[in-house]
Amino acid sequence: MTPEDLGDIKWAAGLWEGEGTIVPYHPPKRPHVCEVRMILDMTDKEPIEAWAQMWGGPVRGPYRRLDKTKWADHWRWQTGRWSEAERIGFLIRPFLYARRRKQLDDVLVQFPDRLRGKPPRLTTCPTEVIPSQSGYMRHWNRKEKPCDICQASRRLWMQTYRAKRRSVQADSSS
Ligand SMILES: [Zn+2]
Repeated sequence: MTPEDLGDIKWAAGLWEGEGTIVPYHPPKRPHVCEVRMILDMTDKEPIEAWAQMWGGPVRGPYRRLDKTKWADHWRWQTGRWSEAERIGFLIRPFLYARRRKQLDDVLVQFPDRLRGKPPRLTTCPTEVIPSQSGYMRHWNRKEKPCDICQASRRLWMQTYRAKRRSVQADSSS
């Protein structure tokens, strides 16, 4: 199963139509931050393994409802990465029915601009100042002083983050 094969994409869209969920997620301690949760949850392991092999990421489970011991075990694939959700969403979107397509669009339109085009995780220091604190944190995790670019990047990230929070507060108080 590959994301390049039209038949496979149609198969994935069909699976998503029946079993998929995508929702915005606001962490309770940072309610102004909009994360994404794209989840496929099933009692059948085989299709979910094929889905995970196609898009990447692990299958987790089995999960069992402790209060519903007669319910079958279920398995779960999940991503919390906007870029992943968008990539998969755009590929399966043409094959979804209207309700599912709207659900997908309503969530993907909330993709935060500050995360757009940003690599999911930096493994080297950025070559220019970008709104990101991951390089800065990586230095500290290695117990070294952050380099100038990583410090400036974190300052820019803080400014972006504070500006967003102010605008959210302004919205909610109006
Ligand atoms: Zn650095």
